[in-house]
Amino acid sequence: MTAPVVKPSLLLHVCCAPCATHCIETLLPHYTLTLLFSNSNIAPQAEYVQRLEHVRKLVTLHGLPLIEDAYDHAAWCTIARGLEHEPEQSHRCRACFAHNLARAATFARQHNLAQFTTTLTVSPHKQTPVIFEVGRQHANFLAMDFKKNNGFARSIELSRKHGLYRQEYCGCEFGRKNPKFEI
Ligand code: SF4
Repeated sequence: MTAPVVKPSLLLHVCCAPCATHCIETLLPHYTLTLLFSNSNIAPQAEYVQRLEHVRKLVTLHGLPLIEDAYDHAAWCTIARGLEHEPEQSHRCRACFAHNLARAATFARQHNLAQFTTTLTVSPHKQTPVIFEVGRQHANFLAMDFKKNNGFARSIELSRKHGLYRQEYCGCEFGRKNPKFEI
């Protein structure tokens, strides 16, 4: 009798439900997944709650565990200080990725999950090399480019299928005031 295949554990940092759809589809055959919602960059809080509600809906569909970090936008704003007027894809976004991925690295260790990765690479508006550079500051980071295989188009298709909320801006109030992209 062959022994059952034990899939390695992986923490998936989820920026929003639509981006998570394609990542879950890609990762589930290979990893035992736990999801993390840690996005104190999102403002206002009502928007944060709405995005979280749809992540809860998605994990329920898949029967996956979800860790919910505390919402602390005031703490997040300290890392954006002085960078408020910069456009998207700027130093502020790098600092934002660093903040959220550092928390993901810590949660993965605390929950004895071998590695972590992030849904942030799905969006064509987010620079994968920057996300990789920031993530690789942590030994337990798994670099995965979810833009591959038409990941963004697939995430739109799946989010429509599941009736998931798709936001109109990246997350923080500074990007919203001065958007560079239509999401
Ligand atoms: S625009 Fe998006 S990635 Fe950039 S700092 Fe704001 S929330 Fe973070």
